[in-house]
Amino acid sequence: MKPLHELTVAQIQQQLIEKKFSSREITQHYLNRIDTLNIDYNCFITVDTNGALTAADQADQAIAEGNSTPLLGVPIAHKDIFCTEGLTTTCGSKMLANFVSPYDATVVSKMKTAGAVMLGKTNMDEFAMGSSNETSFFGPVKNPWNLETVPGGSSGGSAAAVAAQLAPAATGTDTGGSIRQPAALCGITGIKPTYGRVSRYGMIAFASSLDQAGPMTKTAEDAAILLNSMSGLDYKDSTSLDTAVPDFTATLDESLAGLKIGIPKEYFDQRLDTAMADAVQASLAELEKLGAKLVDIELPNSALSVPAYYVIAPAEASSNLSRFDGVRYGYRCNEPEDLEDLYTRTRSEGFGEEVKRRILVGTYALSAGYYDAYYRKAQQIRRLIKDDFVRAFEQVDIIAGPTAPSTAFKFGAKTADPVAMYLEDIYTIAVNLAGLPAMSLPAGQLDNMPIGMQLVGNYFAEHKLLNVAHQFQLATQWHTPTPTSLKG
Ligand code: GLN
Repeated sequence: MKPLHELTVAQIQQQLIEKKFSSREITQHYLNRIDTLNIDYNCFITVDTNGALTAADQADQAIAEGNSTPLLGVPIAHKDIFCTEGLTTTCGSKMLANFVSPYDATVVSKMKTAGAVMLGKTNMDEFAMGSSNETSFFGPVKNPWNLETVPGGSSGGSAAAVAAQLAPAATGTDTGGSIRQPAALCGITGIKPTYGRVSRYGMIAFASSLDQAGPMTKTAEDAAILLNSMSGLDYKDSTSLDTAVPDFTATLDESLAGLKIGIPKEYFDQRLDTAMADAVQASLAELEKLGAKLVDIELPNSALSVPAYYVIAPAEASSNLSRFDGVRYGYRCNEPEDLEDLYTRTRSEGFGEEVKRRILVGTYALSAGYYDAYYRKAQQIRRLIKDDFVRAFEQVDIIAGPTAPSTAFKFGAKTADPVAMYLEDIYTIAVNLAGLPAMSLPAGQLDNMPIGMQLVGNYFAEHKLLNVAHQFQLATQWHTPTPTSLKG
C-alpha cells in the first residue's frame, strides 16, 4: 500500500469508507509529518492538533454509523485568510498576529459540514499581496522542489503544503493569480472559480471585486471534489451568485474530441522564455492527441492587465484595510498619545512594506484629483479586457497558455523591484479582471522545477476546465513526481 501521505483526496475518501484506515490514523499521520517537516518549509502558521483529532474522531464515529458526506474524515488545510472560529487568523500580518475570529468563513463552515478535518492554517503573503510569500510576517515559505526558491504567492503555504505532502489538499484565494501561480511553481493543481461561485464571507478582503477562493490539490479530480463542497450561493455575501452548482466530478470523464482550445498569441510572445514555451507547447500537443483542436486567438488588451490591476487592486485594498485602525481589533500600538497617534503608529507598526505601498498607491489613485485619470481609466480598461475574452469565447471552448513566465525563482531575486514581482502575474491577472474561471496544472519541468499550464474557461465553465485537466492527467505523469526535498 502507498504511504498515506501519497494518497489523493479521492483515494482517502474511498479507503476511509472501506475502513482501510481511520480518520484519526490519517490525521495523526499528517500531524506527525507537519511536526517533523514544517520546520523545513514553513507552510503552516498555526497547527490545530487537538481540533483536528477531535474532528477526526467525530468523522470516524459518523463513518461507523454509516454516514457519508463528501469529505468525511479527510484532512485539509486552510489558507490563513479564512476566518476560523476559536483559532487564530493572521492573514500573514503582524496586524492580525493574535486575532481570533468569533465565526467561521463560509468556505470553512461548508467544508466542516462536508466532514473535512482541518489540520491548520497555511502561511501566505501579508494580506495576500505578493507572488513569492516573501511578504509574510511569519517568514517565507520554501519551495519543496528547491529550498532556495520561492513557492509563489500569495497562497504559497497551501501550495507547498500539498507539494510537500503535509496536507492532501488545501484552500487558497486568488485576486490576481494567488492560487494558480503558486500551484504552477510547486507542481500542483489549483483552480480559481468564476467570480461569485464561492462565497467570500469570512475571507479577509484584499480587493473585493477580484478575490475568489478555490482548492489547491494534487489532481484535477481532487479539485473537483473540493470545489463541490466550497461552491454555492451564500446570503451572507451579496456578490455570491445564485447559479446552480453542478457535480464537478460528473463530467471529468467526458471526451475531449472536437474541443476547441484557443492559444493567445500574446501569451507566447518574446517575453516568455523559449524553454518554458516549448514545455507548454508539448503539453498542448498532448491535448491535441486527446482530440482537441488548437486555434490561434488574440487577446489584444492583455498587456494592459497588469497596469489596470495595479490601480484597481490597491484602490480596493486601501479601502478594505482602513478597518485596521487599532480600535476595533488586531494590533494596537503602545501608549498612544492621542487618536491621530493611535492610527498612525498602529498602522505604521502593524503593516509590512508591501501592504503600505499598496495603501499609498490605492489612496492616491482614488483621491479626488486623480480618480478620473487612474481609477476610472483602469475600470474602462478592465471592460476592454473582459470584452477580449467574450470575443475569444465566441470561437473557442477554453483558452490555454503558461501560468507564469518562469519556474520558481530564488529568494530575494525580485524583492528590490516591485514591478518585476508584479509581472509574475502577467498571464493570470486578466482572468480576475474579467471574473472568469481558470486553473493551473503541472505540465512539464525545466531543470527539475515544475512548469504550470493555465486553462481559462468561460463563465461558470469550471467543469470544462476540470474535465480537460483530468483527461490530461490520465494521459500524462506531470502531476506525479515527488519534489526533490522529499526524496531520500
Ligand atoms: N501577486 C498579485 C498581488 O500581489 C496577486 C495576489 C493574489 O492573487 N492575492 O496582488
